[in-house]
Amino acid sequence: MAVTGEIKKTTVEFSDFGKHENEIVTIKGTVHNIRMMSDFAFVILRTARETVQCVYSEDFSSYRMPPELKEECAVKVTGKVVAGETREGTKRYELQIHDVEILSHPAAISPVVITKKQVQCDLNTNLDYRPVTLRNPRERAIFKIQEGIQRGFREFLTSQNFTEVHTPKINYAGAEGGTNVFKLDYFGKQVFLAQSPQLYKQALVGVYERVFEIAPVFRAEHHDTSRHLNEYISMDFEMGFIDSFEDIMNMETGALKYIMNLLKTEYANEVSLLHADIPEITEIPVIKFMDAKQVIMKQFKYQPTDMKDFDPAEEEMLGKYAKKKFNSDFIFVTHYPSKKRPFYTMDDPEDPEYTLSFDLLFRGLEITSGGQRVHDYYEQVEKMKRLGMNPEQFETYLMLHKYGAPPHGGLGLGLERLTMHLLGFKNVREATMFPRDINRVTP
Ligand code: ATP
Ligand code: MG
Repeated sequence: MAVTGEIKKTTVEFSDFGKHENEIVTIKGTVHNIRMMSDFAFVILRTARETVQCVYSEDFSSYRMPPELKEECAVKVTGKVVAGETREGTKRYELQIHDVEILSHPAAISPVVITKKQVQCDLNTNLDYRPVTLRNPRERAIFKIQEGIQRGFREFLTSQNFTEVHTPKINYAGAEGGTNVFKLDYFGKQVFLAQSPQLYKQALVGVYERVFEIAPVFRAEHHDTSRHLNEYISMDFEMGFIDSFEDIMNMETGALKYIMNLLKTEYANEVSLLHADIPEITEIPVIKFMDAKQVIMKQFKYQPTDMKDFDPAEEEMLGKYAKKKFNSDFIFVTHYPSKKRPFYTMDDPEDPEYTLSFDLLFRGLEITSGGQRVHDYYEQVEKMKRLGMNPEQFETYLMLHKYGAPPHGGLGLGLERLTMHLLGFKNVREATMFPRDINRVTP
């Protein structure tokens, strides 16, 4: 026996029904729902991306629907493609059933109702039964949109001559500092799960100039919040030969424009199913950190508890401000205080209390942190020492600087957070297929 790699099609796709009007075709899928009427039945078939209405009637053929045909049976349905009408009056193809071949039977009926518009249970139960609840068309549309976001990010950056890379997730040091690093026993040696690809993507700027990575990162978040996961997908890029950190914000704006356009065109069904409000981006306003604090205090009459960072309420205020003042769903905040940014961040030469860094807020939620990095060896070693770090522990990281690095910078964009606010969710878990949080490691 040998295989050729030639992909044969023995069944048709719903999207090709138009080419087969009034012909007999076979389609495969899963029985999503059966609705018995007085003298006919609707058998709704769930295929990879669509649901297909099949109609059973004794008038159509000699085939008689057996009692063992149930929801979640995998089937091949043969029938005649006919043009019907939707409730809105648009053309929609359906299949008049001539035969059903049952390929597999479920052992039990679904513990949660997945055939209605929304999964009929609370979020926790939904997450407990993820392998089943994700089959609900609305639920799976969320992650199709998420695919579109990643795909847009990848396509846009590839078009800008970025190289896609994968960096190790088992690391010798934590890159982002703080207490939220997972420690791991590595054959008797302590190592860490990657909090970000920072140390490696910078090294690769010295190789490819522009790199990106879409991959999981790990944060041991000790609190149960609606915006933190313990494992999330970080969309990172890092670019060399920048003139200033504005180049990075510009690249991100270009990527976001591309992503939103891709969603509107190639994910239109999912966008409409989820009533997703896809933002129009022409330009994104930019405000300095301290000016943003002024806005919060003066316009929102709010007294921040921390003048070096924003709390979630302040981010929401800035979201409202961006919408009202600039009619923008996004706002860049720049020049964060040095004290709150990691060791690799470049300080502003004009005022070293602040940094050449930024966050991007989307509808009042931080989705990105980024900025220019230190590229000079002596400057980086000096900064590490100032922060009480031991440069010797970062010997391999510092090879980039020691042996020469171009001016560079980059960012990390949280995929689940972007999905969450794009779809108007209150909890990041809704935008996560199999979330890991302080209380959950299953399924
Ligand atoms: P926050 O202040 O909201 O906790 P952070 O500033 O610690 O976030 P960064 O280290 O800047 O996070 O990470 C870059 C991006 O990764 C964030 O802007 C966000 O989109 C995402 N992100 C960070 N931590 C998490 C998390 N625990 N769960 C989901 N996404 C996260
Ligand atoms: Mg951040």
